[in-house]
Amino acid sequence: MASTVKTKTDLAFQRCVMPDCAATYDVADVRTSCDACGSLLDVDYDWDSLPVPSSLQSFEEKWSRRNEPLCFSGVWRFVDLLPFAPTNKIITIGEGQTLLHPSDGVARFVGVRPGNLLLQYEGMNPSGSFKDNGMTAAFTHAHTIGARRAACASTGNTSASLALYCGVSKLMQAIIFIGSGKISYGKLSQALDYGALTIQIAGDFDDAMHRVQQVSTKQGIYLVNSVNPFRLEGQKTIMFRVLEAMRWEVPDWIVVPGGNLGNSSAFGKAFYELHQLGLIDRIPRLAVINAAGANTLYELVEGRGLRWNNGRPDASIVNNYYAELDDANRRASTIASAIEINRPVNLYKCLRALECCNGVVREVTDQQMLDAKAQVGANGVGCEPASAASVAGAKLLRAEGVIAPTERVVCILTGHQLKDPTATVAYHTHDQAEFNRVLGSRGVTRAAFANRAVQVENNLDEIIRAIELNS
Ligand SMILES: *Cc1c(COP(=O)(O)O)cnc(C)c1O
Ligand SMILES: [Zn+2]
Repeated sequence: MASTVKTKTDLAFQRCVMPDCAATYDVADVRTSCDACGSLLDVDYDWDSLPVPSSLQSFEEKWSRRNEPLCFSGVWRFVDLLPFAPTNKIITIGEGQTLLHPSDGVARFVGVRPGNLLLQYEGMNPSGSFKDNGMTAAFTHAHTIGARRAACASTGNTSASLALYCGVSKLMQAIIFIGSGKISYGKLSQALDYGALTIQIAGDFDDAMHRVQQVSTKQGIYLVNSVNPFRLEGQKTIMFRVLEAMRWEVPDWIVVPGGNLGNSSAFGKAFYELHQLGLIDRIPRLAVINAAGANTLYELVEGRGLRWNNGRPDASIVNNYYAELDDANRRASTIASAIEINRPVNLYKCLRALECCNGVVREVTDQQMLDAKAQVGANGVGCEPASAASVAGAKLLRAEGVIAPTERVVCILTGHQLKDPTATVAYHTHDQAEFNRVLGSRGVTRAAFANRAVQVENNLDEIIRAIELNS
């Protein structure tokens, strides 16, 4: 161990993810990597000295105390499983009021039995994406250490979430870094409307991410991207709520889109800890779904055999791949802007999650994603393009026979339907030029589930005829 290692002094602390290093740091430190080896950090706990509930059912008692903000929050209801902050410092705006929605229509599309396909709809969060689960936790940590400014690079949803927490609480200024041209209007409008300082960089997300890390270090600004280990603590609760909605039964599969891989990493940590604490007896399998145009995880894991390997992953596989990307000047490209990322910051944590959850990785095309999205919409839930990667991925794994029709599958719908209306309207339009403009360059050639507006003269008889012909 390196000399910078501190001894842990508290019940919560930070620890390097690499078992060969395992350096620990104070919970009040602000850092996004290990001083000793440069790896990512976890938030970890001295569980033996903490009051861990004896069963998951015990969380249900909090429903009767929903007038208390920490019981109302779908994140902080589970505070005993992420006990890193004093409760009087927790900043909550009622995040995590989300639904696990069984959909037989989507089950048919995916090819599993009725009742076996469940959509975890995280679009119901206050800023319309799952990011609020993590933001409330990172924001709380920032508040406990007295931060006055918080920054992130974002494809849109992280910035919307940060801007919202800053706007509501007035505790910090939000500074957001976005690339040019890639952010959807639904998301950009949120950052601007909630009053964030918005810095638009001439570059893509990977460039914005690189710059925000430099600027935060230099200027002492609190960074809330998912390299922040506290964000992932909040995102664990998505899995707690899935289990809660299933009456504490463990599903067979969790299927999640993969971008920066914060969610998949958090889910792995959630199940690992629940299992260690004896609160579940089985761990579900994890499927992480990349967009084919931003498929680093898929390429590395399924193509080149990269594994966590008990904490000794072969970093040369990763470095070689990134050198190839640079040589070819290859940039991420997909309609699913939330996962249009080629250098996922949580790569190694995700590898660990895949090992813990006997996971698989797949890629889906923009065509597959948009068709799946249309099916989610037609069944009354709706989501943004990136979210539908989970449903498209489940369908693919079912077709391969990896998922059986009798297995229970939870697909995470990461963002709200209204986040990216441009893609949705283009899919359903009868205007071929508009379809080509938005989707043509994405390799999308048809809209198998399009619901086209019926165009009709402004004439009563014509209108009635159109309705009767089509209903
Ligand atoms: C951030 C985001 C993702 C990607 O999640 P990661 O944790 O970065 O893998 C997927 N979908 C939506 C809607 C998002 O906002
Ligand atoms: Zn380390």
